Amino acid sequence: MTNNEAAKKSPPTREPIIDVGIIDRTESVVVRLEGSYRFADGHRVGPGEIRVICRDGRLSCEGALRGEFETLELEPEDPANCRFVLAATIGIDFHWQQTETEAFRGGLRLLVRDESHLTVINQVALETYITSVICSEMNAESPVEAIRTHAVISRSWLLAQLDRKRGQVSFLQGTKPVPKVDLGQKRDLPSFAIRIRWTEREAHTDYDVCADDHCQRYQGIGRTGSPQVTDAIAETRGQVLLFAGKACDARFSKCCGGVTEQYQTAWGDEEIPYLVALPDRPGSEPAPGHDPNLPALTEENTLRAFLQDPPAAYCNCHDASILRRVLNDYDQATADFFRWQVRLDAAQAGQLVAEKLGIDLGRLVALEPIERGPSGRLKRLRLVGETNSLVVGKELEIRRALSPTHLYSSAFVIDSEGPTERPDAFLLTGAGWGHGVGLCQIGAAVMACQGIGYREILTHYYPGTEVVRCYG
Ligand SMILES: [Zn+2]
Ligand SMILES: [Zn+2]
Repeated sequence: MTNNEAAKKSPPTREPIIDVGIIDRTESVVVRLEGSYRFADGHRVGPGEIRVICRDGRLSCEGALRGEFETLELEPEDPANCRFVLAATIGIDFHWQQTETEAFRGGLRLLVRDESHLTVINQVALETYITSVICSEMNAESPVEAIRTHAVISRSWLLAQLDRKRGQVSFLQGTKPVPKVDLGQKRDLPSFAIRIRWTEREAHTDYDVCADDHCQRYQGIGRTGSPQVTDAIAETRGQVLLFAGKACDARFSKCCGGVTEQYQTAWGDEEIPYLVALPDRPGSEPAPGHDPNLPALTEENTLRAFLQDPPAAYCNCHDASILRRVLNDYDQATADFFRWQVRLDAAQAGQLVAEKLGIDLGRLVALEPIERGPSGRLKRLRLVGETNSLVVGKELEIRRALSPTHLYSSAFVIDSEGPTERPDAFLLTGAGWGHGVGLCQIGAAVMACQGIGYREILTHYYPGTEVVRCYG
């Protein structure tokens, strides 16, 4: 078997090279080659700066490389020392957006996207990619077992994406299911009044994963400095989380809020045996499909009690010395993630919905929960306005609709202020940060601080899975 075939097996028996989309659509880009690169035909280019503009569906280059090209594909002559530098944006639309100049190891591909736009792709060895992702997510103070945990889930998640792309695992449904829920008799709904959306990663056609939070935040090699982090990752080289012999689609989010969520609340209506709801505390590994210890958070009163009087949970952590070890600087600005409150002015909320969803409901007069997942996260919420009403889902669309950026989570209850028929404002009281499916990053970090090993952490969050070294 060739190296390439071994890398394409599922799970792979050699380290794969992956295509990461760095910039998806841009009219031009400036790339600085630091080192000598080669075309497939052996022609050399660099070091130096190349300015590329997409014109009439062709790549027009100036600087260290001149001429017009249909695509550009450059390999470093010395992969360990060559790098290229370009500007990219991370955290698009989320509250931590920032722009940085970033450096990358591996190959560079520029593709024409349409007549006037190009796409920038980094072809990088999987372990290099994983190292960068972990270093963006976690700082050098993070406990070693938490770093190892993340290395395995990043690798597994990525391999699961590759499997999907290659059609080795059935594609999950992407958008617009038929709502099966009883929407109630309270109001007559116009035909457009249901909007259920979610985003899956198979949206990418020209590359395997993108570089921002939609997939995993990837910032090139700028953040791979700490030997503690890179050593901990290297120790797990080739180790993959498997379920029934396949790489697990190991989803994770910042903080579950006390109970993790099942896959269906955030994405397609498919049951994934290892992405199920479970309490984030010791001894909570559920029997398959059933956990008697799970509170009934789909019921409003039980959820209220759970929000007001939080249970013991790994992520119910207010120890600043631990949080400082597990959160990057810009995440510490948002320390109230386990329980939080947001006040929404009713008139402003109506404007927000019109802006974010493009549907004008008028001033909001009620927010009515329709369906919740087992962690209490709303899967469908009815927005009642003075002129119209709309049912929105799934969890990310709800978070997007009711915030200038995104609400921390959709695990919230709603109280109104002012007259019942025409409230002045809504008070959202919520739990957790993110979709809550799979591993809870804060919880995992707390477990690691308690001396629990990464294999045990992984089987806590992904029941029924095992860690296997697939390549060395
Ligand atoms: Zn993506
Ligand atoms: Zn948690």
